[in-house]
Amino acid sequence: MPSAPSNFFTHLECSMTGARIEADQPHNLSPEGWPLLARYDLAAMKGRLDRDAIAARSASDHPGFWKWRELLPVTNDEDIVSLGEVDTPLIDATGTAAQIGASGRLWVKDEGRLPTGSFKARGLALAVSMAKSYGVQTMAMPTNGNAGAALSAYGARAGMTTYSFCPEDTPDVNVREIAGQGGKVFRVNGLIHQCGAIVGALKEQMGWFDVSTLKEPYRIEGKKTMGIELAWQLGWKLPDAIFYPTGGGTGLIGMWKAFDEMEQLGWIGSERPKMFAVQAEGCAPIVKAYEAGEEHAPEWLDAHTFAAGIRVPKAIGDFLILRAVRESEGAALSVSEDQIEAARQLCGGEDGLLLCPEGAATLAACQSALERGLVERDSDIVLFNCGSGLKYPLPDPKRSLDRTQVITPDMLEA
Ligand SMILES: *Cc1c(COP(=O)(O)O)cnc(C)c1O
Repeated sequence: MPSAPSNFFTHLECSMTGARIEADQPHNLSPEGWPLLARYDLAAMKGRLDRDAIAARSASDHPGFWKWRELLPVTNDEDIVSLGEVDTPLIDATGTAAQIGASGRLWVKDEGRLPTGSFKARGLALAVSMAKSYGVQTMAMPTNGNAGAALSAYGARAGMTTYSFCPEDTPDVNVREIAGQGGKVFRVNGLIHQCGAIVGALKEQMGWFDVSTLKEPYRIEGKKTMGIELAWQLGWKLPDAIFYPTGGGTGLIGMWKAFDEMEQLGWIGSERPKMFAVQAEGCAPIVKAYEAGEEHAPEWLDAHTFAAGIRVPKAIGDFLILRAVRESEGAALSVSEDQIEAARQLCGGEDGLLLCPEGAATLAACQSALERGLVERDSDIVLFNCGSGLKYPLPDPKRSLDRTQVITPDMLEA
């Protein structure tokens, strides 16, 4: 007797044309050049699997997001590459909420707790596991740091060779982290899409599988687990608003997809949170396109921000980000470097949560959305802290003491 499928993954679909593509080999973009989305037989799954039974799975058998494996594309358990994933906590930021005038719940979903210290682990765990199932040996990507870190770690775990190409202003710790996990890593005097061009130019000759953001269909599937996990943690209800730091938009697109899939499964209803795509003023192509009413965002020239994860001048899934933002009646918002720094200090000081700059950007954007009336003050809000604050340079507190002098209390208050 054939055993029941361990998941319900059926095929891939072009996100622009809806054309069906079989998933019997590794794929990048659709023939028309658009991102591919994984599709499932949700009708068959509906009623056969209880959401709470899945949620109750033991962490030792199904660590973290792997518990949702029926909604993930990996068919055989042997292909799962795991580094001990966890469900990331949803932490009440009550002190911060009071300071910014939010009277509902304000939660930080702390993705910095995942392997390699960022939510890139979700996407790359899936991409590497799928690549393993296809027998891929070598992979390459352009990266602002965290994606390369996750690629090198999961790649090493799967016995693969990985190549990461980083813009030269990528945080030093990320570059070293990639090398420390066995990845081949190069600093490049250019921006992320210029690093991507190197991958494109050499991939055939080098036999690389290209795992660039959205040029590979399974990173979205990993990132969508943020949406499932969030619904589960909130008792199968979604918050009123989600603030998401948007680079390539994988997570925002993924969560939006997860909400749809969960609705089709009868796990949640039709209500949706307002989705806020947050960018930095120094690199805000999605915000510009949103404000102009466009479906696509032209490349942002002269991109700069110390929030490296959202320094993405051109996103190939721009239309998918913009559609989710508009359908949800959210917005795309940009914040300044000073606002990001102030938000990081605020949340660290008030709630003991050291946000990464990209996570701090979501808090700054939330504050401005409250002030502008884009979200109600009593809304339940989730901010995504996408990586560990410890991976980034921090301002120097510049306080020291000379122990050979008499130290008086006033010196400690200066
Ligand atoms: C990659 C990254 C982002 C952007 O995520 P996308 O889902 O690709 O938009 C934001 N913050 C950090 C820390 C990142 O590493």
